[in-house]
Amino acid sequence: MDKGRQQLLRQLPDVDHLLQRPVLLAWQDRKSRQAVRDAVRAILDERRQSILAGKWDQPFSGDEFDQAVVQRLQMAERGHLRRVINATGTILHTNLGRAVFSSALARHIGELACHYSNLEYDLVSGKRGSRYDHVRELLCALTGAEDAMVVNNNAAAVLLTLSSLVSGREVVISRGELVEIGGSFRIPDVIEQSGGRICEVGTTNKTHLADYQRAIGENTAALMKVHTSNYRIIGFTESVPAPNLASLAHDHGLPCINDVGSGLFVDLAEWGLPHEPTVREVLEAGCDIVTFSADKLLGGPQAGIIVGKAAYLEAMKHHPLLRALRVDKMTLAGLEGTLRAYRDGTAVCQIPTLRCLALTKNELRERAERLLQLLHIDDLPACISLRQIDDCVGGGACPDAVLPGWSLAIEADGMTPEALERRLRRADLPVVARVQYHAVILSLRTLGEEELPDVACAVRKALGG
Ligand SMILES: *Cc1c(COP(=O)(O)O)cnc(C)c1O
Repeated sequence: MDKGRQQLLRQLPDVDHLLQRPVLLAWQDRKSRQAVRDAVRAILDERRQSILAGKWDQPFSGDEFDQAVVQRLQMAERGHLRRVINATGTILHTNLGRAVFSSALARHIGELACHYSNLEYDLVSGKRGSRYDHVRELLCALTGAEDAMVVNNNAAAVLLTLSSLVSGREVVISRGELVEIGGSFRIPDVIEQSGGRICEVGTTNKTHLADYQRAIGENTAALMKVHTSNYRIIGFTESVPAPNLASLAHDHGLPCINDVGSGLFVDLAEWGLPHEPTVREVLEAGCDIVTFSADKLLGGPQAGIIVGKAAYLEAMKHHPLLRALRVDKMTLAGLEGTLRAYRDGTAVCQIPTLRCLALTKNELRERAERLLQLLHIDDLPACISLRQIDDCVGGGACPDAVLPGWSLAIEADGMTPEALERRLRRADLPVVARVQYHAVILSLRTLGEEELPDVACAVRKALGG
């Protein structure tokens, strides 16, 4: 090891010495000696590793060390999972928790969380009930399905479907639909995990009905279609439409499974987006089982929904995996509330995801101007401007959909956009923004009206104002 690093390591004080620093003594009164000791140890360890890796070349500074320890203690105090402000313009940001609830729905979930409920109890007969009954009728009414059930997420819905219907046999699927959705969820892996075998047909860009037809044999258990949610193949392409695939399946007495990813109960074309079939339309096309996420464009809690023919769902209800994939009461409360909003025709005003999607350019521009006012930019060391920048849906839904939006672009004096982005992200109430066009971009679409004062405050503080 070189002399410089040795000297830096030698300069590091010992733990007991550091615990005598006034700032840290105050924290020991507030928390406990052990908590502060642990924090000091952790920061010392980090510092040692950085020095050894050649990533730290500053002499030891007590003030700077205090700050690092206090930051760590504050983080522990706040808890690890925290609220953030989404200024990315991506409505369904998987890293930021996808769909958010309205406060009315959150209150309903909260009430169920802190009281007993009829989760598996039939209040009429006084006998045991099923947790799936709370949403089954709503799901059937909204989609026209014979039966419905709910599991932990869409990955679980696909796994349960294939485990029940395909295990030990083959599922025929197009090479153009063997997708990876993100977070390493890959359709081929899920099929393998279910005990089923993949029979790939066609090519990446083109698959014809005859390709499926040729692949059907005595070992075939199902034909499957998967929505290529997060990417598009354009140009010389062809895939088999759901109605054609379903009737081919039925000609052979097989089920047609369709993983549509983001389940829709309303037509996106209403907001100028490309038309995507709704779940009802997919079922009407003849698909026997349709699976989708509850927390993508549906705007509900994390869950996976399976709808379709009662006979196939019956098999799933008795599958041992169901217990491992089951949803809890808070999920069911959130889902029932979301589905009721669709049933009552109030989805667009009650479900924040749809509200975000439906915001017009004018509304976004007004919101941007309000944020600009709250920022009092005259005395800020930055150039802040209104820009028309497109937002996206996210969550692997509609990859090429364009949502025209308005953003604020912030170029700070003497600070890189990356440094400003980092400061915003590390604020007391973190603001997650993106860096683009050499500026920090704050999209107004995903910022709630009531969040604007917090954003303004965080930006002013980050800019040193
Ligand atoms: C998003 C998606 C999934 C995974 O859904 P989760 O609810 O995140 O498990 C599966 N299939 C498709 C086509 C998807 O778009």
